[in-house]
Amino acid sequence: MSGNLPTLKPLLLDTPPGEWKLSSGEPWREKQLREWIFQRFVSSFEEMSNLPAALRADLAAQYRLAAVEPLKIQGSADTTRKILWRLGDGSLLESVLIPANPSRDGHRSGRLTLCVSSQVGCAYGCRFCASGLDGWRRNLTAAEIVGQVLGAAKIAGCRPDNLVFMGMGEPLANLPRVRAAIEILTSPEGLGIGARHLTVSTSGLAPQIEELAQIPGQFRLALSLHAGTDETRDKIMPVNRKYPLGKLIPACQTFARAKRKMITFEYILLKDLNDNPAEARAVVRHARRLHAKVNLIPYNTVEGLPYERPGEPAIRRFQQVFREAGVEATVRREKGHDIDAACGQLRLRQEKAGLTA
Ligand code: SAH
Ligand code: SF4
Repeated sequence: MSGNLPTLKPLLLDTPPGEWKLSSGEPWREKQLREWIFQRFVSSFEEMSNLPAALRADLAAQYRLAAVEPLKIQGSADTTRKILWRLGDGSLLESVLIPANPSRDGHRSGRLTLCVSSQVGCAYGCRFCASGLDGWRRNLTAAEIVGQVLGAAKIAGCRPDNLVFMGMGEPLANLPRVRAAIEILTSPEGLGIGARHLTVSTSGLAPQIEELAQIPGQFRLALSLHAGTDETRDKIMPVNRKYPLGKLIPACQTFARAKRKMITFEYILLKDLNDNPAEARAVVRHARRLHAKVNLIPYNTVEGLPYERPGEPAIRRFQQVFREAGVEATVRREKGHDIDAACGQLRLRQEKAGLTA
């Protein structure tokens, strides 16, 4: 898949903004360049009208600027928009733009969350997930991660307020590039998004969670727990055999202590699999230990997979266990259900239709 990558010019944003060496040598040119990229979201050097033509030509000869090209934007009735991107090597990727619903989320109106991908495909093969169905293809580079945010900002007409690494791929399996992307996304020389508005979601790579705890910045961690016991987790998440709960929960504790931050458990509700009250009671124990809050997500069905979301009574029964235990657990009504907004679903549909470049 990455076979034709070496023939492509490097992406400018794979070099951190602080290390750019411009041929003009004038320091304010770098500032102008940054403004065009991070404030005006342009996708080509030619558009940077206040830069000398020779500098623009020189940059274009050396680098690519846009890492992703929008191929399709799919809107949902609830105004969630899913963007399918094509990368330089033809790989497909997706991001989801989610406007906050002021009445339901309690945010001021206009808040925008972007869900970004970190890899093409995923090697972790969680049974319920579309992203892992075709296996792992490659890691995204920092520029390809940041590129999704810049491309989405251009489409939305403004910078997203919140970023979540909940698209395709396992961010902690691509930690060096994700780390470099976080640096550009949060630094004042880059996009300047507050680290506390950035959430890294993981299926549970215990050693990398501990590594993440050492990286500076007040970003958040979401753990895709999806089961309270090893027995259930083993059935749906192969990663649990490598890092069972006995390793995973202490790693999360290290993160929570280092960052003094509350962790969130993501918990997809799968009918007759992980939706019984005994499982909820096991989750309560982990949540208490970590002071975690819990996001319950009714499963978004994936074509070709046998899993289903539970009915409303089962969802309410499950949530009730947390209420009684005094642990915060909200049911997240997944937005964009009608546009396959769960990770990997749109890409899968495109590839099945033979639209891969
Ligand atoms: N690999 C990371 C991040 C990407 S997945 C992780 O697993 O956390 C982001 C979230 O989407 C995870 O919590 C994942 O379990 C969830 N997810 C995957 N498929 C889903 C589906 N069909 N319906 C609802 N959530 C899903
Ligand atoms: Fe990969 Fe996350 Fe999907 Fe599991 S849920 S297969 S880790 S993207």
